[in-house]
Amino acid sequence: MEPLSIDEIKGSFVNSTRSLVKAMTPPPGFTELPWESLDYLGWRDPKAPNRGYLVVRRDGGVTGIALNTQATSKPRRGTGLCDLCNTAHQITDVALFAARRAGPAGRAGNTVGTYICADLACSLYLRGLRDPEVPQGETISPELRADRLTTRLDTFVTRVLA
Ligand SMILES: [Zn+2]
Repeated sequence: MEPLSIDEIKGSFVNSTRSLVKAMTPPPGFTELPWESLDYLGWRDPKAPNRGYLVVRRDGGVTGIALNTQATSKPRRGTGLCDLCNTAHQITDVALFAARRAGPAGRAGNTVGTYICADLACSLYLRGLRDPEVPQGETISPELRADRLTTRLDTFVTRVLA
């Protein structure tokens, strides 16, 4: 994706309050992000680990989605799939994120939930730039996986905006 500025990121959130955006910690290592390998910018807030952010360029604009996840203390075993990039992970490396819906629906408490790579690094996994800990069933090319990620991400963003 084309690089984004911090101002563009801060101005992009469609489902967040102004105070939350103010409290947002920018992505770690922001000046050295591998933009050419990213389909979307995603990160967990280092100061508020239950918060995550996902920023995507679409239709010439920039859309940011604030996410929340609950840490669970229960031991969990097995594997799980990311709904966006379909990478298989140890169950602890996928997280159920809830996005408050934009506008009145969100203010009424409606959220959209989806399982995503817990570190929000889908783009790196599907390109083999970061290794998941479990064997993968996917054998299709990174390009096709990136296309599918873009489609699923668009569906997710549309649900948050709807
Ligand atoms: Zn993923």
